[in-house]
Amino acid sequence: MATEPAFKRILLKLSGEALMGDLPYGTDPAQIERIASQVQTVRQRGVEVALVVGAGNIYRGLEGAAKGMDRATADYMGMLATVLNALTLQDALERVGIDTRVLSAMAVTEVAEPYLRRRAIRHLEKDRAVIFAAGTGNPFFTTDTAAALRALEIHAEAILMAKNGVEGVYDADPNEHPDAGFLPEISHRQAIEKGLRVMDSTALSLCMDNDLPIYVFNMADERNIDRIVCGERVGTLVSSKPASDPAQKVGT
Ligand code: UDP
Repeated sequence: MATEPAFKRILLKLSGEALMGDLPYGTDPAQIERIASQVQTVRQRGVEVALVVGAGNIYRGLEGAAKGMDRATADYMGMLATVLNALTLQDALERVGIDTRVLSAMAVTEVAEPYLRRRAIRHLEKDRAVIFAAGTGNPFFTTDTAAALRALEIHAEAILMAKNGVEGVYDADPNEHPDAGFLPEISHRQAIEKGLRVMDSTALSLCMDNDLPIYVFNMADERNIDRIVCGERVGTLVSSKPASDPAQKVGT
């Protein structure tokens, strides 16, 4: 592998849906194996990989709250669900030979270490993959915000934001508007102002304020993570540099 990687340390954000494959719910073992092998490929290039995993494939706090449950209780359930996904992912990473630690923002000491920033960095330096579980540990937040927060804390150079079935960011929801225009580049500010669904606005603001680039890409193409790590332009780059014409459509 001759290509020099563009990053030394990245944070990969996997939504719960990214673990579902074609299933309507839960985790697809084949999909998780594919993710593990993609992580292995970039690690073999010498890139340190931290992961934040969501739980939309199992539970979302807002769904519980919509049914009348106290929002904070529902959110804690969502955070616990991310721990299940983190353990599934750890198991898959270790099966392809990646030494992996799960660091949780909620105490689940039988299965995961408590989140300690310095320890996370130490694990990465020792060539271990790190999975951050339980989001930020706070209700009313999302794992997107956890991804932004942890990426900043560990000095990751970029967030790689995996999407299901879409190539990146569009000027409208491509599932609802088939003529939505693909945006190869956009600034954090433009994404916030236009209400584009890169990540939620809290997470996006955090990235904007701290100049952290986000690469939004389609998880369905198994080469994408490696391509981004090698500096190839794939999907949408969200950075502090404003795109000259964010409304410009490049294909559909
Ligand atoms: N959650 C939370 N605080 C956090 C992260 C997550 O309360 O810091 C809860 C929230 O209920 C959320 C659920 O965990 O709905 C799952 O996370 P998320 O929706 O971000 O998962 P994804 O959409 O990435 O699968």
